[in-house]
Amino acid sequence: MTIKIAIIGSGPSAFYAAEELFKSGQNIRVDMFEKLPTPFGLLRGGVAPDHQQMKTISKSYEKIASNEQFYFFGNITIGKDITIKELMSHYHAIIVATGAESDRKMNIPGEACIGSHTATEFVAWYNGQPSYQDRKFDLSKSNAVVIGQGNVAVDVTRILAKSTEALKTTDITNNALKTLEKSNIKNIYMVGRRGPVQAAFTELELKELGAIDGVNIIVHNELDISETDKAETELSSKTRKNMAQLLELKNKKRNINAIRTIHLLFYSSPVKIIENQNKIKKIQFEKNELKGEPGQQKAIPNGEYFELDCDILFRSIGYLGLPLEDLPFDEKKGIIPNNAGQVMDENGNNIDGVFTTGWIKRGPSGVIGTNRGDSKESVKTCLTFLSTHKIKEKDDVFSLLEKKNIRYLTYNDWKKIDAHEVKEGEKIGKPREKCTSVEEIFDILKK
Ligand code: NAP
Repeated sequence: MTIKIAIIGSGPSAFYAAEELFKSGQNIRVDMFEKLPTPFGLLRGGVAPDHQQMKTISKSYEKIASNEQFYFFGNITIGKDITIKELMSHYHAIIVATGAESDRKMNIPGEACIGSHTATEFVAWYNGQPSYQDRKFDLSKSNAVVIGQGNVAVDVTRILAKSTEALKTTDITNNALKTLEKSNIKNIYMVGRRGPVQAAFTELELKELGAIDGVNIIVHNELDISETDKAETELSSKTRKNMAQLLELKNKKRNINAIRTIHLLFYSSPVKIIENQNKIKKIQFEKNELKGEPGQQKAIPNGEYFELDCDILFRSIGYLGLPLEDLPFDEKKGIIPNNAGQVMDENGNNIDGVFTTGWIKRGPSGVIGTNRGDSKESVKTCLTFLSTHKIKEKDDVFSLLEKKNIRYLTYNDWKKIDAHEVKEGEKIGKPREKCTSVEEIFDILKK
């Protein structure tokens, strides 16, 4: 009998889970459910448009999708169109791979004022995610502030800093290009609450930031670090590389004709957004000192304050997972509690047939490849569970979809959309021009 497994989500962790299931050599059918009409999750909607090389990873996902036991159901939201209970009655196991769709909050006064955005919104907007296309980003004034110093903050800073000339050959949406073309942003402040040694960005991304044509980068803090920082640097080659790169950027000759400047500021926590008529004007920061053992140093406020003029703010302090109806959820960590991938109830007992992988399993950390090992573990747990449980015949999901009159896309439909996007992109020298509305996608499929 065919073992039927549903995967919720279609990002990297979902595809690696499907790959592992097929690699097991068992008679397994994988049905992948995605709330967006298009597959690939953050690879399509998160990875920066000027990182096209990274996006070629989708080729390996296409290979996985070509397995005849693979089915894609796009534009179906589990928890809304189909409940977890309904899904469970059609599958021998389900694997939740929904990622981290929301953001951490700064919890400071003024966070919700006009001009204060999450990095998630901006990234989803320039990457063409349909539900973010109505967002407006006012880049008509001089000063942008990005809070956080992870690689998402670097992506946002780079997209704000680059010329549209450099972006127009990427798969950034035309809508985003038009807005960025009119940008008057002169200064982009990327602010971290801890020091250069603790910065979450990586060397290559930092180097890229320093290499943008016509853009200066200023490292405002001194790079002479404490004894504890030195001990911390010894612990990590990533930190050593970052520090060497920061030093290079600090000593870099400035371009007097630069059109924009990126400012790197450390040891500063935002404490208040100062508004005028509900619109962002300035951000007040408090300076920090670091306390704690090497590798565990925390930012401790020192009572010294300063302000930055700010016309637009991007909060980039980490993603956060969202709960799925009828499944347990750890609100604090933003993950589904699990034991090596098997979902646990509030008493710590494994729930039969329910598994999880990726950012919703472990939190928003690591690179795309990190998900491969993560999914391997979850699939191993899933297959062990299935080997010890009797497999009974399950109803096919197609009749449920028909009964509920759900409009969805198959993988073949996606291939048509993919071809359409590439064709439209070719006309204007881009790798693709993304379809950014669900209706547009269904209209194209009707043709
Ligand atoms: P991240 O790497 O966890 O960085 C979050 C940043 O926010 C850190 O600088 C953190 O500082 C700061 N932060 C957290 N809470 C804060 C607060 N209350 N106030 C001020 N600052 C705060 O998260 P991310 O940038 O969203 O990236 C998520 C994952 O995707 C990472 O693994 C990243 O490497 C990966 N990614 C990779 C690429 C790439 O490879 N090119 C691109 C994008 C994303 P502390 O360190 O002090 O907590």
